[in-house]
Amino acid sequence: MVLTGGTRAGSRLATTAAALTCVIGLLATGCTGDDGAGFRPGAADAGDPYVPGRGNGGYDVTHYGLDVRYDPSTDRLTGRAVITATATRDLSRFNLDLAGLDVGAVTVGDARADHRRGDGELVVIPRDGLPRGRQFTVTVDYGGVPTPVVDGTLGSGGFLHTADGAVALGQPDSAATWFPVNDHPSDKATYDLAVTVPDGLAALSNGVPGPKSSADGWTTWRWSERAPMASYLSTLVIGDYRVVVGTHAGRPMVTAVAASLPPAGGAATSLARTGAIVDFLASRFGPYPFDSYGGIAIADDRIGYALETQSRPVYGPAFFADDRPNLSVVAHELAHQWFGDSVSVGRWGDIWLNEGFASYAEWLWEEHDGGRTAQRNFELQYATIDWSQPSVEPGRERMFGAAVYKRGALAVHALRRTVGDEMFFRILRTWTTERAAGNATTSDLVALAERVAGRQLRPLFDAWLVGGSAPTLP
Ligand SMILES: [Zn+2]
Repeated sequence: MVLTGGTRAGSRLATTAAALTCVIGLLATGCTGDDGAGFRPGAADAGDPYVPGRGNGGYDVTHYGLDVRYDPSTDRLTGRAVITATATRDLSRFNLDLAGLDVGAVTVGDARADHRRGDGELVVIPRDGLPRGRQFTVTVDYGGVPTPVVDGTLGSGGFLHTADGAVALGQPDSAATWFPVNDHPSDKATYDLAVTVPDGLAALSNGVPGPKSSADGWTTWRWSERAPMASYLSTLVIGDYRVVVGTHAGRPMVTAVAASLPPAGGAATSLARTGAIVDFLASRFGPYPFDSYGGIAIADDRIGYALETQSRPVYGPAFFADDRPNLSVVAHELAHQWFGDSVSVGRWGDIWLNEGFASYAEWLWEEHDGGRTAQRNFELQYATIDWSQPSVEPGRERMFGAAVYKRGALAVHALRRTVGDEMFFRILRTWTTERAAGNATTSDLVALAERVAGRQLRPLFDAWLVGGSAPTLP
């Protein structure tokens, strides 16, 4: 993600990171003890203090099959989610995250299941317990007027009704505003989405486009993301867009620019460079990890950020102010396809693994594009960064702060200066290969770097990521 006007260490998130697990009564299924026979409720929370209440426990989702219909004239969304998951322990019931929509029928397998609702939660109570290791499908029919994420770290997030449609987007969580989900990056899954909108509107999402079909004034767009995806990296963009479908390196490339933006303006010309920038990044980071490419430029200025939604980043309008191109933001969001999307955090305290590398990619691109060198950017940032703020475990209110982005990039370049170019890029390519399609931690990165380089690097990472004063220049 990139915020307009750079990163910030704001404190708008005044919310308590209280352990919600035991506060919300029956929904706090992790607190209610044993239901007998060893079958217990799944946790109502992933246990990540940066996103209290988000995510759940007791199962692992492998696939979301989503079929939604949205009518901008009424702002109503109706949907059916067919979720394939595996119980990771003997489960008597389990939670999904779902914000503010009404739930109709719920089935587990072929059997009707009971359900309860609570603040941001849907509790599914199958007729029979789910033994550990059992794969199951849960089908949820739901609908209503979606609501945005009010407590978003970034201002507006979640499902937003726009002038001509809607945008569903946001980090660290947003998916639960439009489908039932285990809404935490530790549980990645593949996706198939069919979205039905009035004829004439586009409906864009992640992955490879499927066949479109029309009936009775409605058009169904289909998308398929075959690589595991963290839920916050899913997106849905509906409206009047100029959609260009092509191929790049033999894979679909779909770019879309809001029709209200100029056809040859800053957004359009920047997104048109997507293939060239991806190829440059692949020459440094290793093969591009997904089976499609693209980008979406939206016009709604409530979205003051760009987000690395998987295979197809979404760019807010402020990045192309005065209709100027902006390739830095494109390089940043595309670098996230390796760092953040393919190799994902398992807990938000490690978010520098996403933002430090994506910020560093901006330096690499700028140098490649004939601008300032990475070394020069390193020197400038080194002189101004606040070393009292750590990159790892930055605190919830600083998860999008300079210590995560800029200090993170400084640490990446310090590693490069220490081990040399050839070893540095070998470490990066080993990381993106060995950890592809999964989750990883800062400790995993340090261990891998030490193994590949054959030398101790922990003190270097400690000094550059979390030490309280400026480290010695390598
Ligand atoms: Zn970013």
